[in-house]
Amino acid sequence: MNDSDLLVKPGELVKLKKLKTDSWLGFKGKKDSKKFVERRALKLGEYQNLLYAQGRYGVLVIVQAMDAAGKDTCVRNVFSEIDPHGFNVVSFKRPSEEALNHDWIWRHTPHLPARGHITVWNRSWYEEMVVVRVHPEFLAKQNLPPETMNDIWTNRFRDINNFEEYLTRNGIVILKFFLHLSKSEQTARFTQRIEIKEKNYKFSAGDIGERLRWKEYMKAYEAVLSKTSTKHAPWYVVPADHKWVTRAAVADIVVKRLKRMKLRYPVIPLERRRELLVLKDDLKHK
Ligand code: ATP
Ligand code: MG
Repeated sequence: MNDSDLLVKPGELVKLKKLKTDSWLGFKGKKDSKKFVERRALKLGEYQNLLYAQGRYGVLVIVQAMDAAGKDTCVRNVFSEIDPHGFNVVSFKRPSEEALNHDWIWRHTPHLPARGHITVWNRSWYEEMVVVRVHPEFLAKQNLPPETMNDIWTNRFRDINNFEEYLTRNGIVILKFFLHLSKSEQTARFTQRIEIKEKNYKFSAGDIGERLRWKEYMKAYEAVLSKTSTKHAPWYVVPADHKWVTRAAVADIVVKRLKRMKLRYPVIPLERRRELLVLKDDLKHK
C-alpha cells in the first residue's frame, strides 16, 4: 500500500467526490487484510513499549468520519495488541454546559497523551469546524464575542494548526484520519442497525437528520482537510466502504509513522551497567 496516495499534502485543495470510498488499495480481500492488520497490530504493541521506555514522545491519533463509517471497529482492530497501561481511547460527544463556558479547545487538552502513551481520539476538536459549522445553533450556544464572528473559520483553522504545531514541539506526534464513506454505504449500514436487533442500540433518529445535511458536511470536511493538513499533523483520507480496507490502511500508516521515529530502548551508561552487575552479584549473597 502506498500511503502517500491517501495523504493530504499541505495546501492541497481536497475534493471528496474525486476520492474513492470503495477502493481496495491493492489488497486481495478480507483474509489478506486480516493477516496484514494482525502483523501491524503486534508491531504497534512493540513500538508503544519502546515509546514508554524512552518516555519522550506521546502519540495522538485523531479519527473523524460521518456516522457508521466504522471508527470504533477500526480502532479496536488496529490497536488490539497494545498494553492497555500505555493506551487509551477518548470519545468526544456534545460539549457540556461547563465546556461551553470555556474556549473550544479547553475540554480536549486534559485528554492529550502523556509521554510514552498512545491516545486515540474518536472525534476531536475538528467537530468544532464540522458539526458546529453545519449547525449555526451550536455556535450560538458558545456565546462568542460578536467581533470574532467574521473570520471565525479561518481563525479556527489557524489556531488549531498553531496549537498542533506547539504540541509537536512538545513531543506529541499527531496523525489524523478521515474515514471516507459513501452515502449509499451509510444507507446499508443504517438499515442493518435497524433490521438487526443486536445493532438497534447503535441507531438514533438524529442520525437521519445529519444525513440530510450530507452535502454541508462534505463541504465542511473539505475545508478542514484542505486547511489543516500540515507537515507536523497530516490528514489521511481513508476509503471506508470496506471496513477491512480502512483497518489495513490505518494500521499501515500508524506503523510506518512510528517506524520513522527510530525508537530505541534508552542507552544505559557503562557506569550504570557496572552497578547493575554488582547488584546482580549481591542478589546471590544477600
Ligand atoms: P456511535 O454513533 O458509533 O456510537 P458517535 O461518535 O457517533 O459514535 P454519538 O454519541 O452518536 O457518538 O455522537 C456524538 C455526537 O456528538 C456527534 O453527533 C458529534 O457531532 C457530536 N459532537 C462532538 N463534538 C461536538 C462539538 N464540539 N459540538 C457539537 N457537537 C459535537
Ligand atoms: Mg453516532
